[in-house]
Amino acid sequence: MYQNGHLATGFGINSVGKIPLGLKRKGLRIVVTGGAGFVGSHLVDRLISRGDSVIVVDNFFTGRKENVVHHFGNPRFELIRHDVVEPLLLEVDQIYHLACPASPVHYKHNPVKTIKTNVVGTLNMLGLAKRVGARFLLTSTSEVYGDPLQHPQVETYWGNVNPIGVRSCYDEGKRTAETLTMDYHRGAGVEVRIARIFNTYGPRMCIDDGRVVSNFVAQALRKEPLTVYGDGKQTRSFQYVSDLVEGLMRLMEGEHVGPFNLGNPGEFTMLELAQVVQETIDPNAKIEFRPNTEDDPHKRKPDITKAKDQLGWEPKVPLRKGLPMMVSDFRQRIFGDHKENVA
Ligand code: NAD
Ligand code: UDP
Ligand code: UDP
Repeated sequence: MYQNGHLATGFGINSVGKIPLGLKRKGLRIVVTGGAGFVGSHLVDRLISRGDSVIVVDNFFTGRKENVVHHFGNPRFELIRHDVVEPLLLEVDQIYHLACPASPVHYKHNPVKTIKTNVVGTLNMLGLAKRVGARFLLTSTSEVYGDPLQHPQVETYWGNVNPIGVRSCYDEGKRTAETLTMDYHRGAGVEVRIARIFNTYGPRMCIDDGRVVSNFVAQALRKEPLTVYGDGKQTRSFQYVSDLVEGLMRLMEGEHVGPFNLGNPGEFTMLELAQVVQETIDPNAKIEFRPNTEDDPHKRKPDITKAKDQLGWEPKVPLRKGLPMMVSDFRQRIFGDHKENVA
């Protein structure tokens, strides 16, 4: 049964009070699917450092061993190469279910596989949660709002999604994953949590994953033009990865199912983002306009009132502070040397 999680008070404000302060809690056994990816590997770092035992389940489609290699040899860390589309038998207390490509370039690469991962993969992890009585957290996405007609987006908004478009494998996949999560909760009593994550950036993003922040940073460092799609007036709200990880852990440890928007409300047009990248890396970086992709949402900005009120969470790292931390990681990975090519 899931019991230990209720004792986890290190940061979860909603569980504070369930255990006398100062009493040391027992480490949890936690699965992180997609734990070798960008967000997952940062989450694993936090879970390991607070004393939990972590099993990463990943098929390495977009994840990399390098992201978790620093935990090899730690008896509280285990890495399993496994595709969540296949059933999995484990005994654990919590499941953070992240496995799914997040970059549009990656998830459009094999759309059928993407939707299988979201539907069959989520079903399997919910089946696992049900069998062992584990608490299950789904990392859903702001994409469930589609091309939103409400701005900023509140959790009660049902979205404006094209069911037959090139992005549907991802956004309809995640919508179905949310449905499955709620049906296992209502029908089988599984303890669930749902996070709707808005655009997140930081160290360890795949350098060439096609997402806008990674593209602009890599392009500016390589002295290539920044590729702005469309007229560059579409907006996104960019969250630094440590803020997201804090939000995910608070959500898991708290008492509310959600869904919760986890994102930074600071909203930027793509042209404004290009300008911040120029200021941070190279003021002379050129901008090149390219045709936009199909069904690109025009604007996106989270209303985070619910997360503030119920999780006591809000992001702390603004874009101009977070970007330099990502830049130094990219600089090192692209050039293998911090000093090289400093603008
Ligand atoms: P990522 O691509 O870096 O990580 C995804 C991980 O899942 C990778 O390690 C990949 O190898 C693994 N994976 C993919 N399919 C799998 C499968 N079938 N079986 C096992 N492992 C599989 O992406 P990320 O940015 O770290 O995103 C993590 C989660 O957060 C995803 O579920 C994504 O949808 C969600 N999310 C991310 C963002 C963002 O801006 N980063 C925004 C919204 C939602
Ligand atoms: N499942 C799994 N690990 C488990 C338990 C279940 O991967 O420990 C998978 C199982 O193979 C099934 C899915 O989760 O495909 C849903 O399981 P559930 O028991 O809810 O449904 P059923 O097996 O009755 O269809
Ligand atoms: N984009 C861009 N240049 C790029 C990559 C993306 O202008 O090199 C735009 C894209 O059209 C979208 C926004 O940046 O409007 C965010 O795209 P991304 O793929 O990062 O994430 P999305 O929010 O679309 O999932």
